[in-house]
Amino acid sequence: MPPQTFVALGTVCSVNLYEDGTEALYRRITERLRQIEGAFSVNLPSSEVSAVNRMAGIAPVPVSAEVLAVLEVALAVAEKSGGAFNPAVGPLVALWGVGTETPAVPDADAIRALLPLVDYRKIQRDGATVFLTEAGMRLDFGGIAKGYAADEAVRVAADAGVRRALIDLGGNIYVYGKKADGTAWRVGVKNPENAGADLALQVELASGTVVTSGRYERFFEQDGIRYHHIIDPATGYPAERGVLSATVVGQLSLLADALSTAAFVLGKEKGLALLQNEYPDMDALILTADHRAASTPRIRQTATLLRGDYKWE
Ligand code: FAD
Ligand code: MG
Repeated sequence: MPPQTFVALGTVCSVNLYEDGTEALYRRITERLRQIEGAFSVNLPSSEVSAVNRMAGIAPVPVSAEVLAVLEVALAVAEKSGGAFNPAVGPLVALWGVGTETPAVPDADAIRALLPLVDYRKIQRDGATVFLTEAGMRLDFGGIAKGYAADEAVRVAADAGVRRALIDLGGNIYVYGKKADGTAWRVGVKNPENAGADLALQVELASGTVVTSGRYERFFEQDGIRYHHIIDPATGYPAERGVLSATVVGQLSLLADALSTAAFVLGKEKGLALLQNEYPDMDALILTADHRAASTPRIRQTATLLRGDYKWE
């Protein structure tokens, strides 16, 4: 069966299972992705995460093992990134409304008032429930759940004996297994200044995930200024540390997704240091506004700049 493209997780997803792709297997993967969306989406009132958010400041809410597991990873990355990645960022995401029909720059006072609620240390869990301890707190898994979904799509395919697969969940990419001709996979990183219409970089890898966070994916403009969807939880404003896009390469898309968001917020130096010091099995590539390409050392061997207007540093 040919590769399948469909909308899930608020984005265009494509799944290619190559010669092992049966209709039943494509359906199983699509259903698994929709199930994950059904558990993690803040846009669906019926989701587990929405239930937790509704009960903020009121009571703990029983959640599934997978919501707890993803939350654990989110909290670990929050801790290691000094809160640059923060699953409690929900109140700010809702206030800005980037990606909704009515985004607007909020009052500085309104932003300041929410900052105490954007505190991942105020999330309690006991192995079966999650409790947001203050009214107005709100979980948001938009920076991590697509990665989890990519890992799960690969797991379903691998369990069914699929030899190779290409999973693309709105730029959250997983290439699994060996290509038929034995060559490495090539994954492109979009040109962040051209709405991703062409490629800035290319990475060669065996089997693994490539996840990019960029300021070109979701944004609005007001008075000539661009406001994008990746919020610096320390300031309450879209993160602006000179990063156009941050890409993380590794084996676990769940972690790569959280870390690409963290690296974007932290900026080039601190973002690369986070990867090198805390996640040495993974790599990062950062494109900056002054047209530099910076990376963790190992990936330089397999990454190629495709645009002459960027220079490696
Ligand atoms: P990433 O950098 O990976 O993540 C950015 C997103 O993470 C932001 O959009 C915000 O949600 C959150 N975030 C912002 N700042 C931080 C921070 N400092 N720390 C942690 N997280 C942060 N889109 C729709 O339009 N409609 C939908 O119905 C919809 N449903 C979705 C359901 C699920 C389960 C998921 C995972 C996503 C859904 N989306 C939906 C898309 C979502 O709103 C984000 O746009 C998307 O996840 C961002 O992915 P990214 O790779 O571009 O950016
Ligand atoms: Mg992310």
